[in-house]
Amino acid sequence: MKAAVFREEGKPLSLEEVPYPERREGEVILKVKAAGLCHGDVHLLLGEWSGDLQISTPVILGHEIVGDVVEGAKKFKKGERVLLYSSIGCGKCRYCLSGRPQFCDKVNVIGVHRNGGFAEYVSVPEEYLFKVDGDPVHLAPLADAGITAYNAVKGIQEGDSVAVIGTGAVAMIAAQLLKSNGAEVIMGGRNPSKLAKAEEIGIPTVMMKRKENMNMSQTLFSYSQKKFDYVLDFVGSQSTLQDSMWLLSREGELRVIGEFGGHLDVPEQLIVLRGLRVKGILYGSLHDMEGVIKSYQEGKFKTMAVPYKLEEINDAINDLIEDKIIGRAVIMPSSQ
Ligand SMILES: [Zn+2]
Ligand SMILES: [Zn+2]
Repeated sequence: MKAAVFREEGKPLSLEEVPYPERREGEVILKVKAAGLCHGDVHLLLGEWSGDLQISTPVILGHEIVGDVVEGAKKFKKGERVLLYSSIGCGKCRYCLSGRPQFCDKVNVIGVHRNGGFAEYVSVPEEYLFKVDGDPVHLAPLADAGITAYNAVKGIQEGDSVAVIGTGAVAMIAAQLLKSNGAEVIMGGRNPSKLAKAEEIGIPTVMMKRKENMNMSQTLFSYSQKKFDYVLDFVGSQSTLQDSMWLLSREGELRVIGEFGGHLDVPEQLIVLRGLRVKGILYGSLHDMEGVIKSYQEGKFKTMAVPYKLEEINDAINDLIEDKIIGRAVIMPSSQ
């Protein structure tokens, strides 16, 4: 079968013929219809996470997978379309038992620790599959961007004021979900074409004023002249995290989702006197996967997928690095 293989950090993926996957006990072979390209893949390819995450190459990346069942399934029928929850846990610890295997100590992410979806076929555990219907290109982003956005906006209510920092696929989905739930949302970013796209779908935006030497928080405050109940940072860089706690109303909450390696420096008195909270958002629970599929089917948001053929995967990676993709790049490994 055809696959894009990650062999060496800093090098393009290698397009190769590789053996058909071996199916393990409890697993199903999927014909991959679409697999989203995540910023996480770029962090891995550039070696930016090599200190924190032990992965062994060669490996086939791609953790945002939609496929059709080929063989080995008990619960699903052959040919049925499924979405993969990619964080596979031990099944025994308290995180796994409560449906949150993304926090399992022994977590194994398909497309990171073992072969994923940038290939024609993949073997995955059946219990982590969810039935879906529709165009696989638009469905694929649900498996990571969608579930993460869904988790990131959980508990935020109608009328709450929310600053969304970042204009990537996850931020775009989160902003749409917030809007559909009646929250007052504003998106801050620095890429004019992505901000224009957000405006087009009804999300008010503000562009970072780099020239005036303002960081993202100062820009958002100077624009809105008010504080927010929630600040959702989908970037997580030094520059987006800077002063972000100052943007919060009393009892406000900063949620950090992006993984661009920033540090949060905040005076403790600010936290205490205003009763602030900080929360990290990693992926979502198995329950969130059901929730995000339902919200998508109800038309609460679009995934904004941008399709590429498997042969074009290195172009997609470059486009993502150069910040040219509005929405989610989605790779299609099989021709039909
Ligand atoms: Zn990801
Ligand atoms: Zn576990």
